[in-house]
Amino acid sequence: METSKNKKLLQDKKIAIIGGGPGGLTLARLLQLKGVNVKVYERDINKDARVQGANVDLHFDSGLKVIEAAGLMESFKANYMKGADKFRMIDKDGNICSDEHNQGTDIDFGNENFRPEIDRGVLRSVLIDSLLPDTVIWNSQLVSMDQVNDGWELTFKNGTRTVADIVIGADGYRSKIRPYVTDIKELYSGATFIQGEIEYPEKDCPEMYELVNKANLIAMSVGKTIAVQPSGDGSRLTFYTASMYPENWIKNSGIDFNSNEEVYAYLVKFYEGWNPIFFTLFKACTSFVPRPINYFPLDQNWNTKPNITLIGDAAHLMPPSGEGVNTAMVDALDLSECLTSEAFNDIQTAIETYEKGMWTRAVVLGKEAMEGIKDFASPTEESVNKFVQQFNQI
Ligand SMILES: Cc1cc2nc3c(=O)[nH]c(=O)nc-3n(C[C@H](O)[C@H](O)[C@H](O)COP(=O)(O)OP(=O)(O)OC[C@H]3O[C@@H](n4cnc5c(N)ncnc54)[C@H](O)[C@@H]3O)c2cc1C
Repeated sequence: METSKNKKLLQDKKIAIIGGGPGGLTLARLLQLKGVNVKVYERDINKDARVQGANVDLHFDSGLKVIEAAGLMESFKANYMKGADKFRMIDKDGNICSDEHNQGTDIDFGNENFRPEIDRGVLRSVLIDSLLPDTVIWNSQLVSMDQVNDGWELTFKNGTRTVADIVIGADGYRSKIRPYVTDIKELYSGATFIQGEIEYPEKDCPEMYELVNKANLIAMSVGKTIAVQPSGDGSRLTFYTASMYPENWIKNSGIDFNSNEEVYAYLVKFYEGWNPIFFTLFKACTSFVPRPINYFPLDQNWNTKPNITLIGDAAHLMPPSGEGVNTAMVDALDLSECLTSEAFNDIQTAIETYEKGMWTRAVVLGKEAMEGIKDFASPTEESVNKFVQQFNQI
C-alpha cells in the first residue's frame, strides 16, 4: 500500500522541531497522531519559565479547525476564556465609543464569526499535555547546525548535540533555522509597539482593570493607540502602545527600556492630553518590552531543501492582525498532512507542496496585515471612525 510505503519512509526518520510555540507544538501533536518520531527543542528552561503574553483568539476556519484536527477541541473548550472575545473601544478622554459588554455572550463553535480567546500559556499547556512524555526537550536553545550525511547535527547553547533527519524551524521571527533555508531578511513595517505587563491591576490600576472587564480594550486617537488584554484568569493585564516610528527608533531614542521610570516618563509625555487614567496603566507596569513590528517580504520564496523547512513566524512573519497564531497552526496542519500523505514519494516533494501552499496563504494574510498596521498604530480620524463602526457591527 502507498500509505505504508510513505509511512515507512517517515517512520525511519527522526524529526526535530525547533521551537515550542503554538506552531511547533501543534505540529508535534499532529505528527505524533500519525505515529511519527518527533522531538521539540525549546529554548525556555521549562514550561513555566516565562509568561507567554496576552491571549489570542482562534478562528473558525484556521486555529479552531486545527484544534479539531488535533483532537483537542474538548480540552480547548475546557480552557478558553468565556466572554473575553468582547471588545470595548474608548477615546483618549476615556469615553466609551463602542461596547460589546452590553450584548449577551454568544458561545457558538459552529458560527464562523465566533472567535474564542485563550491565554497563550494555557494554549501552550493544552498542546504540551497532549504530547507523549518527554517530547519537549527544554533548555535547548539551538545555536547552529551542520549537515551530516542526509541529515543534520544540531548544537544547543547548553552544550548538547543531537542528530535529526528532518528539521522544522518553528522558532519564531528571529529564527536560527531560517538562514539555513533562505537569506531573505525581515523589513520594518514602520510601526513600533511598547508592551507592558501588569501583575496586580486590580490593586495597582483599578479603574483600568474595571474598564478592561476581562476582555479586549482598545483606545485610539489620531496617531496613537493603546490596546489592553487580560490574562486567562483575568488577574494580570498586558498592554501595547502603538505608533509609527522611524526605523531603529528603539536604539536611537535614548530610552533605557529596562528602566520603568524612563519608559513611564516617555509614555506620559507621548500621551499628553489623554485621560490620566491611562498613566495609571503605565505606572502599574512591572516590565516594558519595545517591539519593532517587522515582516518578511510578501513575495518571498526559495528553492525547497530536501530535509528542512519553516512554519509560523519563522516562515512568514507579518504585523499583528490576529492571524499569527492561527496561521502557524494551519502551517502545522498542512505540513503534517504533506509529510504523511500518500501522494508523495519523497520528503522534498512533500515539503515543496507545503511551502507553495504556505506562501500563497501568507501573501493574502500578509497584505491584509500590512494594510491594517498603519490604521491600527497610527490612525487618522477616518480610521478611528472606521474601527468604531467595525466594532459596532460585530
Ligand atoms: C504584539 C503582538 C501581538 C500579537 N497578537 C496576536 C494575536 O492577538 N493573535 C494572533 O494570532 N497572533 C498574534 N501575534 C502574532 C503571534 O504572536 C505569532 O504569529 C505566533 O506566536 C507565531 O507562532 P510560532 O509558533 O511561529 O512562533 P513563536 O510563538 O514565536 O514561538 C517560537 C518558540 O521558539 C522558541 N525559540 C526561539 N528561538 C529558539 C532557538 N534558537 N532554539 C529553541 N527554541 C527557540 C521560543 O522560545 C518560542 O517558544 C502577535 C504578535 C505580536 C508581536
